[in-house]
Amino acid sequence: MAEIQMSHIVKQYGDGFPAVNDVSLDIADGEFMILVGPSGCGKSTLLRMIVGLEDISSGDMVIGGKRVNDKAPRERNLSMVFQNYALYPHLTVFENIAFPLRLAKMDDAEVRRRVNEAADVLELHEHLERKPANLSGGQRQRVAMGRAIVRQAEAFLFDEPLSNLDAKLRGQMRTEISRLQRRLGITTVYVTHDQTEAMTLGDRVCVLRKGKIQQVASPRELYDQP
Ligand code: ADP
Ligand code: ADP
Repeated sequence: MAEIQMSHIVKQYGDGFPAVNDVSLDIADGEFMILVGPSGCGKSTLLRMIVGLEDISSGDMVIGGKRVNDKAPRERNLSMVFQNYALYPHLTVFENIAFPLRLAKMDDAEVRRRVNEAADVLELHEHLERKPANLSGGQRQRVAMGRAIVRQAEAFLFDEPLSNLDAKLRGQMRTEISRLQRRLGITTVYVTHDQTEAMTLGDRVCVLRKGKIQQVASPRELYDQP
């Protein structure tokens, strides 16, 4: 787990208006931070700069006390959870969770130990031999998070993970993500344009507008505003 500290972060694409314009934000160890705001306000760009998928034009990005501006995504040890969960359909749940460990050529006993540990937390034991097609949306989400857990990632990053789901499933998944985040206590940054998600999931909400922070507050504080 790690603290994420952003200081005067700027992202300039070409010679247009900066997509992210002098953003300073500290996300505490274990905190669940929401990035919200209208389309085009810079949420995804900011998230991609945290993960390392986008170069930072200026400013400092510090994760777990280390400046990561020039570090590749794999050196940052963060875990991005995608909209479609990016599960491999031909692999079992076990192998989907184990995937990053197999890539890292971890020995089999340790792979089994870590996957089983993650399956305990995620209540996926009964499903380890199934394929993703035979899982519910909520179970797939848990598999995607399992992959992050086994890697012992320092933070979870979500980019609108629920935006393609119907309202009912979205509600279930909100509950699921919130419950797991609290149980794991892992630093989380979650991008959404959905007010309900913003107001129910996070410890704090960062409202972006035209690349700048308009406000950072707890959902309670936002709710109580006139
Ligand atoms: P959001 O996630 O809030 O919708 P984005 O971070 O995707 O916002 O985009 C912020 C701004 O940066 C927008 O004006 C968008 O058009 C621009 N932008 C995003 N990605 C690129 C890119 N690869 N090249 C040029 N401009 C981009
Ligand atoms: P690994 O394959 O071990 O996850 P990578 O360097 O491929 O290592 O990725 C490092 C991190 O960046 C991972 O958390 C991964 O999910 C994320 N990542 C990699 N590629 C992308 C991408 N195209 N878009 C968003 N996140 C990505």
